[in-house]
Amino acid sequence: MKRETHQFKTEVQQILNLIINSLYSNKDIFLRELISNASDAIDKLRFKSQTDPEILGADTEFKIIIKSDGIARTLEISDNGIGMTYDEVMENIGTIAKSGTAGFLEAFEQLQNNDLLAPELIGQFGVGFYSAFIVADSVTLVTRAAGEDKAVKWESRGDGAYTIEESERDTRGTTITLSLKKTQKDEKDFTDEWTIRSIVKQHSDFVAYPIAMDVEKDEPIPDAEQIKDKDGKSIGETTRKVVREEILNSMKAIWTRSKDEITDDEYEEFYKHLSHDWNAPLDRLHMKFEGTTEYEALLYVPAKPPFDLFNAERKHGVQLFCKRVFIMDDCKELMPEYLRFIKGVVDAADLNLNVSREILQQDRLVMNIRKNLVKKVLELLSSMDKEKYESFYEAFGAVLKEGIYTDTGKQKKLAELVRYKTTRSEDKWVSLDDYVKNMKTEQKEIYFITGENLTGLLNSPHLEKLKEKEYEVLLMTDPVDEWVMQSLTEFDGRPLKSAEKGDLGLDSVDDKKKEEFNALFGFIKSQLEKSVKEVKPSTRLKDSASCLSGDAYDMSAYMEKILKSSGQTPPESKRVLELNMDHPVIGKIKNMFETDRDNPILKNYSKLLFDMAVISEGGKVDNPAEFSKTIGELMANSLGE
Ligand code: ADP
Repeated sequence: MKRETHQFKTEVQQILNLIINSLYSNKDIFLRELISNASDAIDKLRFKSQTDPEILGADTEFKIIIKSDGIARTLEISDNGIGMTYDEVMENIGTIAKSGTAGFLEAFEQLQNNDLLAPELIGQFGVGFYSAFIVADSVTLVTRAAGEDKAVKWESRGDGAYTIEESERDTRGTTITLSLKKTQKDEKDFTDEWTIRSIVKQHSDFVAYPIAMDVEKDEPIPDAEQIKDKDGKSIGETTRKVVREEILNSMKAIWTRSKDEITDDEYEEFYKHLSHDWNAPLDRLHMKFEGTTEYEALLYVPAKPPFDLFNAERKHGVQLFCKRVFIMDDCKELMPEYLRFIKGVVDAADLNLNVSREILQQDRLVMNIRKNLVKKVLELLSSMDKEKYESFYEAFGAVLKEGIYTDTGKQKKLAELVRYKTTRSEDKWVSLDDYVKNMKTEQKEIYFITGENLTGLLNSPHLEKLKEKEYEVLLMTDPVDEWVMQSLTEFDGRPLKSAEKGDLGLDSVDDKKKEEFNALFGFIKSQLEKSVKEVKPSTRLKDSASCLSGDAYDMSAYMEKILKSSGQTPPESKRVLELNMDHPVIGKIKNMFETDRDNPILKNYSKLLFDMAVISEGGKVDNPAEFSKTIGELMANSLGE
């Protein structure tokens, strides 16, 4: 295979520039990232070897080796992990294989002052390998995948292009060589033994595999080899310089240590190693369970959501160990989907070492652990103080809420944890408990409305009567709320009721008046046959002339919109057009209808009342041009000759 030159995908170069520019004051972390990748590569190999023991061959002593050369100014990190094939290098290193990267960059560019925010955001993105370019002018990666004979060499100066060619490597694994940038006078020298030592100690001490480095030491010269005078006294040197391999990390699994021996910094570093997140976690849980199932767990709640939280392919964050031996990454069986943001490790003593993912799903032990962990995580969330909890909720609330309809056993507990903005509290979160406490004495139901944004909801005509009565309404703007509300029908014995569906029963409609409008409403319905199933007097409107509502079990307008935007075709459903009998427009139309029934304007007005209702709930009218034309005519008429 000849040497090939490829261009980075645009987004890779953008991410690279972002990293280099924003992390110059935080250079040390490149080493942690490369060591984490090396350690992950060994984990992957071990996982694979559980079903394919041959893959290890004779090379069973897992190790990460650091070599530095102060004169050539290079630093090398190698591992004997799983390695990469040509295709894998192309996929993992030349592109950023994460879907959503373009979206991330777009969001990033829209932020003002993005230099300040960069480290935090990049942390959410997690771009480990590329951090090498913070300290290196050029990076060379030589890798040989387990089970392959040939190696692959990848090289780049981080300037838009990389080369890739066939290469040699004696054994399986990956070696990354950094050709370091020139350092300024008071900058750290990353070839210096003590610098490397202290970075490893600080960021990677608990890595489960030895991180080895050759260090120079003074060693006593054995007695027999010393030069002695005639009286047998030593003359000259009694020690000499020798190079010895030393292990720089303690490898102690942090979760096995007792809580009061572990500092906050150590907990934090472990989190960063595990999650590839560069921000400190929001909170943690460190537990030891003894009894029928024995296991240890160290779990973290991140502070910020990863950029791909809603991407279905994203990894779960819990690693499974058995007596310190790594079993698998990304163990979905230990944490339900709605807690997929939790990161951490679980070490279960009684687990069968050769478990496969299929077996895990039905493993009683695993099911027990999962049940317990969910309980503990929810307890942790409940016990957070208001400020911390709200910061959690803003990051992960939309995910947590999925539990309400996926884990009915925990529905009650989760309902206590949800928060909403309301008509009375537009900028502060309100819990269902607070809502119930603030209910008016005569109020029987908890009202909510769903839609795209707060402003739209706050001004929705559906809420006019509710506002007049001073009944608080929960404003729901997460798509997931639609599913939540289908599943959660009551809280604390109070039914949850949509403000846009069914009869709100706030005021009883005057039967006599209704009778008077009957003929007009019948006429309007005949004009809108295709779009509405009923035209009726409204119980929710006060200031507006019209709005659309649904029957209790109809799909809400927002739900319909969500389904359409995700490419689905929701079943065609007609809405109910509600008209405000006390509104002057409706009164005047009634007069015209009674005196001049054949006036063609009545047709236009019927359509207009419907379009106005559509627009007021943030919908789109079918025929905007016709809508504008009608409005134009109306304006011309009202302005007179
Ligand atoms: P992340 O580790 O967050 O996935 P990186 O940019 O650090 O992102 O790495 C991209 C991918 O390259 C990794 O997911 C892994 O598949 C591969 N990779 C990186 N370093 C190594 C290594 N030392 N050995 C094997 N594969 C590696």
